[in-house]
Amino acid sequence: MPLDKELRQTVRERADYLCEYCHSPEKLSASRFTIDHLIPRSLGGTDDLENLALACRRCNERRYNFVAGVDPKNKEITPIYQPRLYQWSDHFCWENQGALIRGVLNDERYPAEDSIQATRKLWIAAGWHPPQNDPCAD
Ligand SMILES: [Zn+2]
Repeated sequence: MPLDKELRQTVRERADYLCEYCHSPEKLSASRFTIDHLIPRSLGGTDDLENLALACRRCNERRYNFVAGVDPKNKEITPIYQPRLYQWSDHFCWENQGALIRGVLNDERYPAEDSIQATRKLWIAAGWHPPQNDPCAD
C-alpha cells in the first residue's frame, strides 16, 4: 500500500529535502526522492514516521533491504547508518570541498563514492553544495 501523501511530505520536510544518507538535495534531482524504510517492510518494518527516511534513488537502491554490512577493516557485521538514531554530522564529513563523503567513525558503512562526484563538483561550482550546516574536512 503506498504511503499517504501527507506522510511523505512530512518525511521530506523533516529531512530538509536532503537525502538522509548522502545529503544530496532533492531539488537538484530529476525525480523526487524515495521514502526509505529503515527497517524494510520485507523484514517487518512499518510505515511509522520513525521508520521512514528520505533517500535519493541511488542510496535507496544501494541500501536495498540491508540493515547491516560487513566492516571491511575487521570483517564484523555492523549496522548501516541509521538517520533516526544518529546525526549525519557525527558520522560523516565532506572532503574535496563537498565532492566526497568520508566516514568519521571507524565503524561506518557507506557505499563507495565515485559516480556522483562529478555531479557534486558542478553543484559546488554553482554554490548549491555542500549543505550549509554540514562539516567539511577541507
Ligand atoms: Zn542519497
